[in-house]
Amino acid sequence: MTANSQRRVLLAKPRGYCAGVDRAVQAVEIALEKYGAPIYVRKQIVHNVHVVKTLEERGAVFVDETEEVPEGAIVVFSAHGVAPVVHEEAQGLSLRTIDATCPLVTKVHKEAVRFAAQGYDILLIGHEGHEEVIGTTGEAPDHIHLVDGPDDVANVHVRDPEKVAWLSQTTLSVDETIATVEKLRERFPNLTDPPSDDICYATQNRQTAVKEMAARSQLVIVVGSTNSSNSVRLVEVAKEHGADDAYLVDYAEQIDPAWLDGVTTVGVTSGASVPDELVQDVLAWLAERGFGEAEEIESVQESMRFSLPKELRKDLRITP
Ligand code: SF4
Repeated sequence: MTANSQRRVLLAKPRGYCAGVDRAVQAVEIALEKYGAPIYVRKQIVHNVHVVKTLEERGAVFVDETEEVPEGAIVVFSAHGVAPVVHEEAQGLSLRTIDATCPLVTKVHKEAVRFAAQGYDILLIGHEGHEEVIGTTGEAPDHIHLVDGPDDVANVHVRDPEKVAWLSQTTLSVDETIATVEKLRERFPNLTDPPSDDICYATQNRQTAVKEMAARSQLVIVVGSTNSSNSVRLVEVAKEHGADDAYLVDYAEQIDPAWLDGVTTVGVTSGASVPDELVQDVLAWLAERGFGEAEEIESVQESMRFSLPKELRKDLRITP
């Protein structure tokens, strides 16, 4: 047996696009086809540089703030969701909006509104400055307190320790969130749980898959962008579950050949906002270096799909 024949690649499944990303990207593509360029998009539609660049080439214009959109134009809100004030700003500028907020993010917004209406202080576990956290917080700014991991629990101040609920960003580490909730419950024994998990199925499934793969890999390559929360979590989870090294790359060209020194098994996966063509490029790059054999490891089967945003369904005359 030659040295090369011992080299192999494990490919995680599920990986890549989730139902919310697929829907958001499709929303921009369909808007470009139906209404023509430019279509404005508030923030990156999904956190992936390749997706954003490809849509830009087709006529999408990405802006950071609603006020950058010309009066009366069409604007798509990203999958991460927006605060109610953003809808008001859009209305003030007579914008036509297409809301591509992932339905699983909308679910968290609704939970926040309901807990706030019942007088709870809401402890939102998430990463400071992330767009999803900003959007959810905007639903009830006077009731929501950000908790950025277990070490932040000691800093929380609430009005009534008996009336506290927790929610979370959808793309966190499952294990770290459990640890944060345990610490919160030590401080607030009557802490109320959300009605169902806020960490979404796609984040959970990709972490389950990477755990299984990392246990059998020396090196794990995660395809994804640095501002993609779920992709960054995959790197952390891979390192915590057996991989000697794990790296995040946007493109195959960013892989350093030195990472392969002494490695015989490479695990490959991708974040929820990553098109599979970028993973195929990584597999081709590895094959050129003797890692030709790729074995797919399926941990969980996925079949989730979401219908297009209602504004598009209406214009396309699609019944829900
Ligand atoms: Fe929705 Fe989860 Fe995908 Fe985010 S990662 S867009 S919450 S399905």
